[in-house]
Amino acid sequence: MEALIPVINKLQDVFNTVGADTIQLPQIVVVGTQSSGKSSVLESLVGRDILPRGTGVVTRRPLVLQLVHIDQEDRRKPTEENGIDGEEWGKFLHTKNKIYTDFEEIRHEIEAETERISGSNKGISDEPIHLKIFSPQVVNLTLVDLPGITKVPVGDQPKDIEIQIRELILKYISNPNSIILAVTAANTDMATSEALKVAREVDPDGRRTLAVITKLDLMDAGTDAMDVLMGRVIPVKLGIIGVVNRSQLDINQKKLVADSIRDEHAFLQKKYPSLANRNGTKYLARTLNRLLMHHIRDCLPELKTRINVLAAQYQSLLNSYGEPVEDKSATLLQIITKFAAEYCNTIEGTAKYIETAELCGGARICYIFHETFGRTLESVDPLGGLTTIDVLTAIRNATGPRPALFVPEVSFELLVKRQIKRLEEPSLRCVELVHEEMQRIIQHCSNYSTQELLRFPKLHDAIVEVVTSLLRKRLPVTNEMVHNLVAIELAYINTKHPDFADASGLMNNNIEEQRRNRLRDLPSAVPRDKGAASVSQSSSVSDQTDSGTGNWRSMVRKGEEVPAGDRAMAQPLITASPQKGHAVNLLDVPVPVSRKLSAREQRDCEVIERLIKSYFLIVRKNIQDSVPKAVMHFLVNHVKDCLQSELVGQLYKTTLLGDLLTESEDMAQRRNEAADMLKALQKASQVIAEIRETHLW
Ligand code: GDP
Ligand code: MG
Repeated sequence: MEALIPVINKLQDVFNTVGADTIQLPQIVVVGTQSSGKSSVLESLVGRDILPRGTGVVTRRPLVLQLVHIDQEDRRKPTEENGIDGEEWGKFLHTKNKIYTDFEEIRHEIEAETERISGSNKGISDEPIHLKIFSPQVVNLTLVDLPGITKVPVGDQPKDIEIQIRELILKYISNPNSIILAVTAANTDMATSEALKVAREVDPDGRRTLAVITKLDLMDAGTDAMDVLMGRVIPVKLGIIGVVNRSQLDINQKKLVADSIRDEHAFLQKKYPSLANRNGTKYLARTLNRLLMHHIRDCLPELKTRINVLAAQYQSLLNSYGEPVEDKSATLLQIITKFAAEYCNTIEGTAKYIETAELCGGARICYIFHETFGRTLESVDPLGGLTTIDVLTAIRNATGPRPALFVPEVSFELLVKRQIKRLEEPSLRCVELVHEEMQRIIQHCSNYSTQELLRFPKLHDAIVEVVTSLLRKRLPVTNEMVHNLVAIELAYINTKHPDFADASGLMNNNIEEQRRNRLRDLPSAVPRDKGAASVSQSSSVSDQTDSGTGNWRSMVRKGEEVPAGDRAMAQPLITASPQKGHAVNLLDVPVPVSRKLSAREQRDCEVIERLIKSYFLIVRKNIQDSVPKAVMHFLVNHVKDCLQSELVGQLYKTTLLGDLLTESEDMAQRRNEAADMLKALQKASQVIAEIRETHLW
């Protein structure tokens, strides 16, 4: 059995690395009639006196003997812990942690434990005794000693003892992963072998049955086992092996196993010279070895696959951890470059890692521009925060001490500027939002894209710091620009803007109209508001002007003619007091109008408001268009373009290298573990290749 030790040991390492259960070596189960020498065969295989043997029924409970190989180094450990002195020891399941170093004591314990359950009077039990033997000279193997087949109940044995024992035996040998040692004594007739009979029941093809002929020394004078051993009586596929165990006298005289094996050899040489090298305990052990090795070999392909799969897994894990840093400056440069590239890619939308949970990077910036910012601007009311009274006051203020003939243009400029100014706040807010998103992208990149960054927490922090400060630096510049965009709009109110033409036409027409009205009113000296005579005239004038200036203008004109109540219905947003106590029409927000507006005042207000609205829309469109452009240029693109050089400039310094590239301890450790594991797996794979090639096959 010792020949298996190096192989099994090697494999054991393999198993330890793979984390798999050891190959389940087949259990070796002995069957045979009572006193045929089953226990003796097992014992000589193990090479130790541990099993109770003798005439009559000795083995009365199954004994599951588990051999556990220990390394020479391991031996010392239990020695120190348990005060064990010696290189081998045994342990019973039923005595828990008690350690047996005296094998005599083990045998006594087996006897005592047998009696405890089965009684002292030949009773048997199917409850197994579990014994583990730890030794550097054994392979991990399980041997099962069973009570012998018997026919006639003796002592306390029940009537159906034969059936009971048969069932017990079948229970163990029907396990396909067991090797059956069918023991038959040479001084009985092989043809009547109960052992072979029961073995055939579960192993009809004889693939796992090995016949053992014991007591070759006890054959009648003049007879020999030649025919039996040659397989001429009953052929057994895996072989028939004759052995000579110690007799009862030998046992009583405490003959050593080694001596017995030497004597066996001498006996075989003398009696069966031609068969000597194919019989005997040693040959039996070698045969078992071979069977076990075959079994191992059959298990190897699966094991190999498993190793390969694991190795691949660890390799990719290791790859994800990155190589240990050798050239620090190259690594730093590489990480910085990769980060910068990832940052830009996230903005461009070409990042490898595509976020699906929410918008991020460039897409989010786009959303900010067109949804958040665009919508906000669109929701700004051109006349928001402007009451009729404000307009009126502005008009009056603009005219100074003189009463005005026309609607003064200055008041329009003044008021429209005030409205345009209101676009600045949402524009600056837009910058802020984009800035926040750019900040978020840093996190995104370091979390998902640049795995290496996780290895170097200090570098990670430093990169975040550099990008953050670059962003922070760009913020005032961008804000300034956006502020300027609004300021530019404020700087010059371009009433010649092509889109404003319509509205300015209105202004001119209105002025023209006013002039005519004035000219008309002067000779009759009738105040314009009260003059009933003017109605027909003015309406004819208006009809002329109407054709060119659009619909809303006709409403202004009507303002002069129709009763205030009707007018209010036509244009409900214009604050007006009913002239003759008709239905009151107020704005949602009451305007503190303490007096009635004259028709002219009404009209002037409306004109101004129209103009403001028209011009405001032009400016709003400009701002909606130019702010995103400014943000892109001054913030987004600038950061994108400068990121790499900024990072290199600030971080790529010899003095910083060591510090920045300090790995997190965790990571270094994890990589080492993975690397060790990979090495172990590669070695395991090599071991398997060696075992496959070894001559043992
Ligand atoms: P078991 O009941 O099948 O386990 O048989 P044991 O191993 O207890 O052996 C029964 C008796 O036969 C013991 O006294 C052994 O010493 C004796 N015996 C077993 N094998 C041999 C053998 O090969 N030669 C001789 N002379 N005696 C043997
Ligand atoms: Mg026995």
